Amino acid sequence: MYQAFLIKYGEIAIKGKNRHVFEDALVRQIKYSLKKADGEFKVTKQQGRIFVHCESDYDFDEVVERLQNVFGIVGICPVLLTDDRGVDALWEDVIGFVKEAYESHDFTFKVNARRARKNFPLNSMEINAAAGEKLLEAFPDLKVDVHKPQENINIEIRENICIYSKIIPGPGGMPVGSAGKAMLLLSGGIDSPVAGHMIAKRGCKIDATYFHAPPYTSERAKQKVIDLAKIVSRYSGPIHLNIVNFTDMQMYIYETCPHDELTIIMRRYMMQIAEHFATEGGSLGLVTGESIGQVASQTMQSLICTNEVCTLPVFRPLVGFDKQEIIERALKIGTYDTSILPYEDCCTIFVAKHPVTKPSLKSIKKSEAKLGDHMKELYEEAIKTTETIIVSEEM
Ligand code: ATP
Ligand code: MG
Repeated sequence: MYQAFLIKYGEIAIKGKNRHVFEDALVRQIKYSLKKADGEFKVTKQQGRIFVHCESDYDFDEVVERLQNVFGIVGICPVLLTDDRGVDALWEDVIGFVKEAYESHDFTFKVNARRARKNFPLNSMEINAAAGEKLLEAFPDLKVDVHKPQENINIEIRENICIYSKIIPGPGGMPVGSAGKAMLLLSGGIDSPVAGHMIAKRGCKIDATYFHAPPYTSERAKQKVIDLAKIVSRYSGPIHLNIVNFTDMQMYIYETCPHDELTIIMRRYMMQIAEHFATEGGSLGLVTGESIGQVASQTMQSLICTNEVCTLPVFRPLVGFDKQEIIERALKIGTYDTSILPYEDCCTIFVAKHPVTKPSLKSIKKSEAKLGDHMKELYEEAIKTTETIIVSEEM
């Protein structure tokens, strides 16, 4: 019955002059989300309304599920779209709609009409009254309740006529691409994919950087990160993923620096390399999956040390979350099962038994000084040999 969906968006509608930027980003993301769906769809923007028109057979649940991944959408309304064929035809359409949309017809309701096209012969109050009456005649068990109706029957008179009642919740947030771009440090763990999802929810496009250490970390560990990026890209759109070969730098740090400081020093280099690619690609900040106190490298003192090497702001969307809360989100967005696959991570291989929990920046810098010019060469080499792939659902 539904040939279209009316897309409701909240937060972005208030953005004044920038409104079209937000709407265009939303339209683009909706198109992206439906590219792989079965069926033909057209997305249109008309008079401050976004519609998804279904131009062939389609799977209702699939389309709704895909739209529920599009940030910026507050509500997804399956609609009956008809041409204006006069007032009597409208009543037939409203009755037909209610008949199809509900299995049993014994609820309380209210009609909400909106006449955006003023040459329609009845005004909204008149449509409300007349449509209500027609529905009561057609379905004797319906009751009108204008204060707390169980169902709102919405009728919008625009170029065409749009009838809907159900509003399926969307994910909220802001459409990706409306808030600049950020560089996600993406590991194979549980946290960073969730951090990426959260930053995308605020409208940021994301690129990602992964550090791997072959042969200590395997091809399968790398594939796991690509798979995680692919899942995140369902929400964020295509992700440029930089895969940095970190082995030589890591080995050299391991040989040269005190082992209790390894993780912090490695992290500092990771941040610098990620910042290099961020700046190169136009990202305005870095994003990590860190949360205060989760492990030794995430105490306040440790975060101060890793942060110190960056010029760009570092966003840590999970900063106040417990592990359990992060796991719940990972399950919800579909990254958890991939994240817990047991492939080794470069940080767990070169890890100290007793890492410092309160590193001092002074001491860290002293250790780093020992790395000397050779580290600069390794750094340049790591950047030069980085492989970049574009990850998207279509891969
Ligand atoms: P995650 O589950 O995201 O791996 P974690 O709890 O394992 O996090 P750490 O291993 O301490 O925590 O990593 C903290 C953050 O540093 C990660 O969330 C990620 O943003 C970044 N990071 C760690 N290892 C890598 C890596 N190999 N490549 C890219 N980023 C990494
Ligand atoms: Mg990790």
